[in-house]
Amino acid sequence: MRYALAALFGALLLASCATPTKEQSLVSKAADAMGGARALGDIKTISTSGTSKWWEPEQSEVPGGEPRFSAEGKIDSISDLASRTTRYDYQKNFAYPTARTFTYSEVVTPQAGYVIGIDSNGRNAESLKANPPAHSMSGYRLATTQRERARTGIAGMISAMLANPDAVKPAADINGLPAVEYQGFIVAFDPKTGLPERVRNLDYDNIWGDVNYDSVLSDWREFSGVKIPMKRSVQLNGRLVQETQLTDVRINPPIDQARLQIPAGVLANAAKPATGNVPYQWVIRRQYIGTYLDSDNVSYDTKAASPGLRLQQLSPGVFQLVGGSHNALVVEMSDHLIVVDAPVSDAQSMWLLNATKSQFSGKPIRWVVLTHHHMDHAGGVRGLLNDGATLVVGQGNYKHFNDVLRAPATRNPDMKVMDLTRIPIMEVTQSHVMTDSKGRQVMAYAMDNPHAKGMLMVWVPDAKLGYVTDLWNPGQPLPPKPNAGQAAVVSAVKKAGIQPERFAGGHGSVDEYQKLEKLMGQ
Ligand SMILES: [Zn+2]
Repeated sequence: MRYALAALFGALLLASCATPTKEQSLVSKAADAMGGARALGDIKTISTSGTSKWWEPEQSEVPGGEPRFSAEGKIDSISDLASRTTRYDYQKNFAYPTARTFTYSEVVTPQAGYVIGIDSNGRNAESLKANPPAHSMSGYRLATTQRERARTGIAGMISAMLANPDAVKPAADINGLPAVEYQGFIVAFDPKTGLPERVRNLDYDNIWGDVNYDSVLSDWREFSGVKIPMKRSVQLNGRLVQETQLTDVRINPPIDQARLQIPAGVLANAAKPATGNVPYQWVIRRQYIGTYLDSDNVSYDTKAASPGLRLQQLSPGVFQLVGGSHNALVVEMSDHLIVVDAPVSDAQSMWLLNATKSQFSGKPIRWVVLTHHHMDHAGGVRGLLNDGATLVVGQGNYKHFNDVLRAPATRNPDMKVMDLTRIPIMEVTQSHVMTDSKGRQVMAYAMDNPHAKGMLMVWVPDAKLGYVTDLWNPGQPLPPKPNAGQAAVVSAVKKAGIQPERFAGGHGSVDEYQKLEKLMGQ
């Protein structure tokens, strides 16, 4: 009896020492619900097949409106857990910005990433040079793909949590669901079933600032004793941006290792996964619409022949910010500057701000004009408002940008937090004239167009220069017949009663307007 009691106390003592934390209990309950620690640990390889749909909220037609449906397609994946290598085979049929199909593969290892085929309209120099097309992933893309693979592979994540209990940290509940934090992920569990229900990252979005990026897991089915979520809904601040439905899962299928290889020549020069401030949302969401430029600078291709941004003079006091995937226009007035478009990121805006400070002897940016609200042409808006400018936007954009400037942006990697709530926002219903003391004028005109509601065209009369974005890319070859965007530019010019000699663009460079007018006449 005495011995039994001693044993009992001993056991109790041991149990109290090793009492699992609330977080560890949530993880072991989840592991049990998914088939048990052993079944999870026995997964050596896993393959999945499924279909996906994508939406991009900040390419909406209306500012703040319904997310734009961008693509649907098939994704097959195969993972070798021992080498931590995954291959994805995609067939993505895009509806936006134009209809096209990209069929390509990705191989992701801990050290490098490899893209086989064409996956974007914004191909980098390495992809363009390779025959057949292929390229190594940038460090940004590799780190992002690795993170998203971990988010998707929930069985692996729960297994990893079991193996590293000390790394499982407390986290605040999500919508009443108990949650844990693990290596940057916040995982919330269904209290009834114990299954993981939501996997969250705290990301930064160039428009909405601090955002929650969530995978919501459902439709659990059992394969070889392991429960797998067949449905994954991805939400950005609660709005659906991707939905995946798996159709087939195989646990421990044989693997053709040759399909998981990255060629030695590619591997030798491939980027390592980026650390620090990875622009996850930019990398993920530019891929949603098939326009991602795979580069370790979000503004330009670091592998281009002469990489970097620069100010190109088009006319006295009129400059185009070029050298990257997205341009802007800078007009020098007598005692201030006007900037048209705030593309990509606040990092690009900071570059422009510094360039203007040295080139225009400290003239402040007094007007920031946005041609439209899309995230790739407005994502650097905060950075350009540094001098306390007035923000000029098209009709129907006021509420959207009023909300944007009030959204918390504490995770902005490119600039310190600023109070932008007092920035005046002006909506242009027809036209707006900006004038300086010497009589130089710059006009913004509202224009009917097929791309976005409340779009603006800009006109610098003394330079006889117009500026448009996403409707016509001046300097790029013209199609045999004008498209709807190009036709909209010609209509807007006629409506405004202006006689432009040239147009500069938010994409492309600068070109003679006559070429477009001639094309319309045909
Ligand atoms: Zn656009």
